[in-house]
Amino acid sequence: MIDKILIANRGEIALRILRACRELGIKTVAAHSEADRDLKHVRLADESVCIGPASSLESYLNIPAVLSAAEVTDAVAIHPGYGFLSENADFAERVEECGFIFIGPRAETIRIMGDKVAAIKAMKKAGVPTVPGSDGSLGTDDKTNLEIAQRIGYPIIIKASGGGGGRGMRVVHSEAALLNAITLTRAEAGAAFNNDVVYMEKYLGNPRHIEIQILADEHGKAIHLGERDCSMQRRHQKVIEEAPAPGITKEMRARIGGRCAQACIDIGYRGAGTFEFLYQDGEFYFIEMNTRVQVEHPVTEMVTGVDIVKEQIRIASGEGLSIQQSDVIMRGHAIECRINAEDPVNFMPSPGTITAYHTPGGPGIRVDSHIYDGYYVPPYYDSMIGKIISYGDSRQAAIARMRIALSELVIEGIKTNIALHQELIRDAAFAVGGTNIHYLEKKLAEKNA
Ligand code: ADP
Repeated sequence: MIDKILIANRGEIALRILRACRELGIKTVAAHSEADRDLKHVRLADESVCIGPASSLESYLNIPAVLSAAEVTDAVAIHPGYGFLSENADFAERVEECGFIFIGPRAETIRIMGDKVAAIKAMKKAGVPTVPGSDGSLGTDDKTNLEIAQRIGYPIIIKASGGGGGRGMRVVHSEAALLNAITLTRAEAGAAFNNDVVYMEKYLGNPRHIEIQILADEHGKAIHLGERDCSMQRRHQKVIEEAPAPGITKEMRARIGGRCAQACIDIGYRGAGTFEFLYQDGEFYFIEMNTRVQVEHPVTEMVTGVDIVKEQIRIASGEGLSIQQSDVIMRGHAIECRINAEDPVNFMPSPGTITAYHTPGGPGIRVDSHIYDGYYVPPYYDSMIGKIISYGDSRQAAIARMRIALSELVIEGIKTNIALHQELIRDAAFAVGGTNIHYLEKKLAEKNA
C-alpha cells in the first residue's frame, strides 16, 4: 500500500493532490523550488524538500533532483500532477526503475500518446473516430503529399507529431501553399520538438472542443466519466470548461464514452486520462490523448461525485477501480473559470504580492487555489492562480452561481482575468451554450476593433 507520496508539482494541483492524500491517510512530501517555499501545500505537507532554483528546468523538470527527493524522504510513489514531468515518458520510466510507483500510465503508453501520429494510429485501431487525414507521417515526395491533400480536401492542417501546447500547426487553404507549409512546419517542428515528423488532417472550420474523462485500472477494467466542453479558448488555452457539454445526449455520451473506455482496455491503459475530440456537425474527431489529470477535472468530479485524484492513487496502488460504469450517474451541471494573474488587456502575466484576497462561497461553489492574503505570485511559472467551480441542478443554475461567485471574488495587488470571466458568464452566446473554439478569439478581436 502507498503510505507516502511525493508531489512533483506546484500551485493549485499540488494542493489538490495533498488534499486527496490526506483524505486517504497518506503522508505527503512537497518537492518545491527555491521560489516556492511559501506555497500553501509546502506549508501543509508532512515533509518538504527543496529540489532546486526557481527556474523549472532546474527544479520541477529536473529528473535527478525529483528522484533524490523521493529517495531521501522514503516516498513510495510520485504524483506528477499536470504539466512539468507529467507526460514525460523517460521520467515515468526512471521513476519505476528507481523502485517508486509512478501515479500515471506506463511509460510506453505515455510515449505512444506523446507522439501524435502513433496516438492517432492506436486510436483508429481501437475504433475511436479520428479526423480524416494522412494516416501517418508525411514523406518528402511532393506529388504524393499533393495527392493526399487533394483526397482530404482543403482546407487542411499540417501538424507536428511531437507538437504540444497549440504549437507546431499550420492551416493550408489551397494547393498553392501546401508544399511550402509542409517544409516550414517540418523545420519548425525539428527545431522546437526535436522531431520533424509532420502529418496532415482535414481542417475543421467551426468545431467545439469536447473531451472524455476515463479511468482505467490494471485489472482490465475501464470506465468513462462523461464529457467536458472546453471550447472557450484563447490561443488554444482553455479559459472556461463545463460538464456536461451542452447538447450532448445520454446516447451520444454512452457511445463515444464507451468507445474510449474500450480503447483503454485495448491499449492496456492505466490511470486517469482524457481523450480530446473536436466535435462538429454531430461527429467526434479524436485529436489527442492526455495521459494525466487535467486542470479541468473538477467539473467532472462535481457532476459525477467521483474523486479523480483519489482514484488515480487507488489505481496506482494496484487496487481495482472502486466503481463500475453503471455507478456513474451525471447529475446537474458544473462550470469552471480559470483565474489567471494576467493583464486583462494584453494578457501579459502579472506577478506580484496579493494584498487582499476574498474567496467566494455558498452552496455549489468550489475554489481550487493555492493563493492567500500576502502570497507572492512568482514570475517563473504558469499564470493560473486558481479555479472557481460552480455547480447547480441545471446549466442556468450553475451560471447564476458562477456570476455571484465572481462578484464576491476579490484579488488585489496583481492584475487578473476576473473581469473577462464576468463578461463571459453574462455573454448571450455562452448563455445559449455550444459556442465553438473560435468564439472567444472573435469576441476579443471585435472588442479591440
Ligand atoms: P496541442 O497538443 O498542441 O494542444 P492539438 O492537436 O490538441 O494540439 O490541437 C490544438 C488545437 O488546435 C485544437 O484544440 C484546435 O483548436 C486546433 N486544431 C487541431 N487540429 C485541428 C483540425 N484538424 N481542425 C481544426 N482545428 C484543429
